[in-house]
Amino acid sequence: QWARVRARLQAEVGEVEYRTWLKQVSFAGLAGDEVVVMLPTRFLRDWVNKEYGELIASFWQQENQLVKRVEFRTGAPASRPAAPDLAEPVQAPSAGQPAMVAPRQENMAALDQRFTFETFVVGKPNEFAYACARRVAEAPATAGFNPLFLYGGVGLGKTHLMHAIAWELSTNARGGRPVSVAYMSAEKFMYRFINALRSQSTLEFKNELRSVDVLMIDDLQFLIGKDNTQEEFFHTFNALVDAGKQIVISADKSPSDLSGLEDRLRTRLGCGMVADLHATTFELRYSILEAKAQRAGVEVPPKVLEFLARKITSNNRELEGALNRLVAHANLFNRQVTIDTAHEVLHDVLKAHDRKISIQEIQKRVCEHYNIRIAEMSSARRARNIARPRQVAMYLAKQLTSKSLPDIGRHFGNRDHTTVMHAVSRVTELIAQDAAFAEDVELLKRLLEN
Ligand code: ADP
Ligand code: MG
Repeated sequence: QWARVRARLQAEVGEVEYRTWLKQVSFAGLAGDEVVVMLPTRFLRDWVNKEYGELIASFWQQENQLVKRVEFRTGAPASRPAAPDLAEPVQAPSAGQPAMVAPRQENMAALDQRFTFETFVVGKPNEFAYACARRVAEAPATAGFNPLFLYGGVGLGKTHLMHAIAWELSTNARGGRPVSVAYMSAEKFMYRFINALRSQSTLEFKNELRSVDVLMIDDLQFLIGKDNTQEEFFHTFNALVDAGKQIVISADKSPSDLSGLEDRLRTRLGCGMVADLHATTFELRYSILEAKAQRAGVEVPPKVLEFLARKITSNNRELEGALNRLVAHANLFNRQVTIDTAHEVLHDVLKAHDRKISIQEIQKRVCEHYNIRIAEMSSARRARNIARPRQVAMYLAKQLTSKSLPDIGRHFGNRDHTTVMHAVSRVTELIAQDAAFAEDVELLKRLLEN
């Protein structure tokens, strides 16, 4: 029965699609009205279930009327040898069939389904990198774009863009020939290289890598100090570029700043297109949050989005993590997302960010606001128009930094910690009594937090 179901699937979806997605489905058994099938990875399981689940179930039902449902599980069938690390390249589709790119399955499984061009939010800091990635996905190995070198700090979207290129190539191939894509982290590259050395299969490893159309290596900085692996990568790189294949690299720094890489490699890395992912701006963070909240189907008031976008400035990963926690919390307790819940749920994250505000910054802002000289923060003058702002600055230092009272005192002309304590309680009192003053302090606080 399974053989017949398979044959029908193959006929239905076409050879290439079948090989790409369905070949690895194995039949595990029939229990009551349920057929159990296995896939080697979770990603494949979910993907096949989503895309082909209904088709598979209906073919089964036509074979065997008892079957009501198909259960998808992960695991490899014991009887079959383990899948090779890199599946053999998929053959060209027969004429007339749509050209499906067939990235290698191992690599597809390593790709995050959420990292597509559609989910990538474009803004000033990343528009150039995005445009380059698009270009490479549309026309791999175009002169001037090879290699494509993407660099930027942690969590700014390098991996996302690389996966997006791979997905795009896998779904939107033009022309007749399928494109094979190999994506791996530099770490994985090294791991595989070392394994190949150990098992004396370096030649196979080399051939495998050199047979792809697009090679993507993520986080190249990992190869610094790994001389043998670097050497191997250099040769692979040259072989591929010489053969007109596309290379996409990401790293945390630009080629010229990647000290520790061999010069000749560094030079070649910089020969194509080098695109920088800049630190995010408030606008980009806001749009990312907006897009993700919408995708999650949760209503997050603009005020909360703004709050998060202002507070969590480090990188998009942290931003996303914060939003996810907020959304999970809202779902779990069936509560609306508000600034208060944000404070509550994200207490630790927000605190970590607050710590970055320095006392100097606070003093500067406060002085600007009250129009006094910065030296007055440390002076001994006790005139109210000076002393009050000084107290406000101390209060804000206590609120916005993790500095101790004595520490704070030292920044204010070596004042005693009791003076700081007094300032904090005085300002707290005034906030309670005087709405205008409270507003002033709140405004300062906001300005500093941004
Ligand atoms: P990097 O590889 O540069 O460290 P990632 O690509 O892993 O960063 O991005 C970290 C997280 O932030 C991912 O979940 C990614 O989807 C998200 N992200 C980064 N940039 C964007 C963007 N411009 N739009 C949407 N999501 C983004
Ligand atoms: Mg990354």
